[in-house]
Amino acid sequence: MFGEFPPTPQDIHFRVLGIPCRIHPTFWIIAAIYAFPRGQMAGEMPGQLILLLLLSRITCLFVSILVHELGHALLIDRVGFPTAITLHSFGGYASYQPTRSIRHTVSMAISFAGPLAGFILYGVVCGVEYLLVRNDVFFRLPRAFAYVLADAIVQLKYINLYWGLVNLLPVYPLDGGQITRTWLAAYRGIDGVRQSLVISMIVSGAAALWFFKESGQQLFDFTVILFAYLCFQSYQAYEQVRRY
Ligand SMILES: [Zn+2]
Repeated sequence: MFGEFPPTPQDIHFRVLGIPCRIHPTFWIIAAIYAFPRGQMAGEMPGQLILLLLLSRITCLFVSILVHELGHALLIDRVGFPTAITLHSFGGYASYQPTRSIRHTVSMAISFAGPLAGFILYGVVCGVEYLLVRNDVFFRLPRAFAYVLADAIVQLKYINLYWGLVNLLPVYPLDGGQITRTWLAAYRGIDGVRQSLVISMIVSGAAALWFFKESGQQLFDFTVILFAYLCFQSYQAYEQVRRY
């Protein structure tokens, strides 16, 4: 999605449901930045609770990205192509090289399968939360554990619903951008690719401005930087295909 992340000696390899997975070392940097508790509350927390929150949030991020990529990878595998998952600093990707042409609807379904897997996980987490509240589990647990568990539920719901929806924006190379490009290219060829990049530029530019306003005009907000970068990347890609 954001280029390839070449293998390094620090990579961690494992398999889930038969799919080979790899954690690139850059994943841990962004995970720690994302997970570190901030704000006034964090300043008053004991060190052990901060450590517990940090580990819990990194686990939530790891599970959420893995489930999203498994959504893509399991469908790719079912279509009959070898695939592998890489988790990295910007999230992850399920790589595959189609060895034969596939229908554009199949390609669009592969792009949609990632956010869909996240939405299913969101539903499961809502179900678990309902059961925990109904059985008064939060009141029975020691306070620190109840706090970390409640935080984990908030994180899992936020990542899987909010980022799943953001990922469906028609911005290349997000999943929504891949769907738009595949769809337009199927009907209009290279013109469709150009149009998908114009849509990508407009939507990512608007998203960068919206997140800038929402973050209280912080230029260094993660989403502002992400969408400004994607807008620039779409412009570069548009310039490349404009001449064809
Ligand atoms: Zn995806």
